[in-house]
Amino acid sequence: MPAKEATDVRPSERRRPMNFSRPADDLVRRAARRAVRGGKASFPSQASFLRAVVGAVRAEDPRAALGGVRLRRLVVGLPGVRISVRYSERPGRPPPSECPVCGSDLVPIRNRTLSGDTIVLGQRCERCDYWSHTHRRMPVRYSFSRAVSTPRRTRGAG
Ligand SMILES: [Zn+2]
Repeated sequence: MPAKEATDVRPSERRRPMNFSRPADDLVRRAARRAVRGGKASFPSQASFLRAVVGAVRAEDPRAALGGVRLRRLVVGLPGVRISVRYSERPGRPPPSECPVCGSDLVPIRNRTLSGDTIVLGQRCERCDYWSHTHRRMPVRYSFSRAVSTPRRTRGAG
């Protein structure tokens, strides 16, 4: 049973329409890392992750407004946060012109044939794991969890 939050700001509530602030990138990233480290370490959808992050951000900035696309672009590649993406292929449609996950440029995936020519097999993102072959491959669901990473210590401890 989902609890209704008193601080929930809906677009239809237009009491103070301009009274939002855009939280700093760092604040959002910190809140995202904390969200996946907390008791509920896995979020099955972007909406549920967004709710948790917005709640944490508003603890520091009660007027903070944040959308799912901005949140996703800020946490792609962020250490400690793992994004899993489920895709759907759309045959007959060309690949997208920019990465649908993080908005970065796409670069061609090339392969060399036996005769020495190169052929383009598809597109991949410069920044994240997204790729698309000749069919358009689009994200349909995101989930967010804690990244299981090997500890990287740059300072020699022991
Ligand atoms: Zn990307």
